[in-house]
Amino acid sequence: MSIFGNSIFGNKATGMVGGGQEDTAAANTLQKTDAQWREELTPEEYHVLRQAGTERPYTGEYWDTHTEGVYQCRACGAELFTSNEKFDSHCGWPSFWAPLTEGKVRYIHDRTLGMDRIEVRCASCDSHLGHVFEGEGYGTPTDQRYCINSVSLRLVAKGDAGDGQSRD
Ligand SMILES: [Zn+2]
Repeated sequence: MSIFGNSIFGNKATGMVGGGQEDTAAANTLQKTDAQWREELTPEEYHVLRQAGTERPYTGEYWDTHTEGVYQCRACGAELFTSNEKFDSHCGWPSFWAPLTEGKVRYIHDRTLGMDRIEVRCASCDSHLGHVFEGEGYGTPTDQRYCINSVSLRLVAKGDAGDGQSRD
């Protein structure tokens, strides 16, 4: 009586365990339709993240922020930059001299607007973050400036996610 076992039904059963929720195991590569992005992001976030727009300088949330913490991708939550690599470039956008680790972001040669630039995107969801420039003489360890839109990031302040142990 057990020739067929119950694996046939077992498979079916596991398919129903989720309770109808859509949040089944998120795949590593995040792929969403344009309509989904439009629904989840504000118009400004959508314009910058998904249409490679640029926020106006000195208007963003983080251009002058010195709070310690981790900057996540606002579209997918991947950790991209930290306050350790943020520096004052006075260019009007949050500037970093390196990403959290290589592999967190990807680079695309951007020749739009008659300029020759390197676009920086989130490696996890392919959203636009900003551009990276090199050799500007800022005196940072890499001499690079990751010029990133505030609206592409979300700062998680140190201490919000764990207990901040003081190091004095
Ligand atoms: Zn992302």
